[in-house]
Amino acid sequence: MSNDVWVVAEHARGQLSESTLETVGKGRELAHATGGKLVALLLTDDERNQINSLAAADLILLARRPEFREFTPEAYGGAIEAALKEAPPRLVLMGSTSVGLDLLSVLSARTGFACLDSCTRLDLRASQLLATCQIYGGKLFVEVALSSATTLVAVVPGSFAKPADQPSGRPEVRELTLPADLPVSRITFHRLIEPPSGDVDITKVPILVAVGRGIQNADNLPLAGELAEALGGAVCASRPVIDQGWLPLTRQVGKSGMTVKPKLYLALGISGAPEHLEGMKQSELIVAVNTDPKAPIFGAAHYGAVTDVVELIPMLTEEARKQGLKKAS
Ligand SMILES: Cc1cc2nc3c(=O)[nH]c(=O)nc-3n(C[C@H](O)[C@H](O)[C@H](O)COP(=O)(O)OP(=O)(O)OC[C@H]3O[C@@H](n4cnc5c(N)ncnc54)[C@H](O)[C@@H]3O)c2cc1C
Repeated sequence: MSNDVWVVAEHARGQLSESTLETVGKGRELAHATGGKLVALLLTDDERNQINSLAAADLILLARRPEFREFTPEAYGGAIEAALKEAPPRLVLMGSTSVGLDLLSVLSARTGFACLDSCTRLDLRASQLLATCQIYGGKLFVEVALSSATTLVAVVPGSFAKPADQPSGRPEVRELTLPADLPVSRITFHRLIEPPSGDVDITKVPILVAVGRGIQNADNLPLAGELAEALGGAVCASRPVIDQGWLPLTRQVGKSGMTVKPKLYLALGISGAPEHLEGMKQSELIVAVNTDPKAPIFGAAHYGAVTDVVELIPMLTEEARKQGLKKAS
């Protein structure tokens, strides 16, 4: 086993995912602690748009094949398994995403290496890996310590920062030698189903007015729209609001929706279930409004008000218009 730290690069439509970039940031720090190299494992059909984003790595292990254009657990799993058996590193990091979780289980079963999923904190102290991981869908956290064997880890998107600086040098790129007898995948990729385009991308908006079931009914939604407009932001929502069909899926925040990190997240009538918090707890400033003073959202909020959102929103809108906040945001 080497001291190296590997990151499995995840990509879609030719671009590396945000969670891969964050994992590279954490991997850089961990490789410093192990004294090993940071190695990016890139399985793709065309690396041209991807290599530059992996500049923080010391080495890119590249496997280029048409079947690596899109992820399938069998094709990726077989290739990474072979690489792992050839030269097992200290750590293998991937996103705790649908791709990463598929891979984690396949690789752990095939190699016998320990695996941890849903990790939000990782540290190496002496020979031990210390990790904090979510269990029960994020309702509880566990702290675990693992001894110094190769460990596979899936990290929750949004838990770590991307590399701060773009390094001046370029990583070495080495072709990954794949065994000739790699089994043919029985799974074939059909198509990527994307949300309808044309809607606002809530992951890029600095001010989000988020509504939950506390908004009461669809007739009250325009109130949130007016507030968002007055603040120069956009409306997003918790899952029940989306499930009712009041807003499109592109506006859902949380475990099965988007992960957002706006400058301001105004949580209006949202209880703060772990599945919702997972998608917004990294926001710079969280302000919660809820009639229930014991609502868990207040545990995540920087500021809070115990009051009725339906009464409060028009007052906030009026005040925002008076102050000209739209121009300031
Ligand atoms: C696998 C899985 C994935 C999930 N993914 C997501 C996800 O991506 N995103 C997500 O949001 N949820 C998700 N959920 C659902 C999640 O568990 C919660 O059920 C959901 O977040 C609750 O939404 P809510 O806070 O709007 O509603 P509720 O939990 O019903 O809370 C409504 C809140 O409004 C307050 N309220 C009521 N009336 C008023 C009023 N007039 N003024 C002010 N406050 C008021 C109440 O006190 C309450 O706190 C997921 C669940 C599972 C099992």
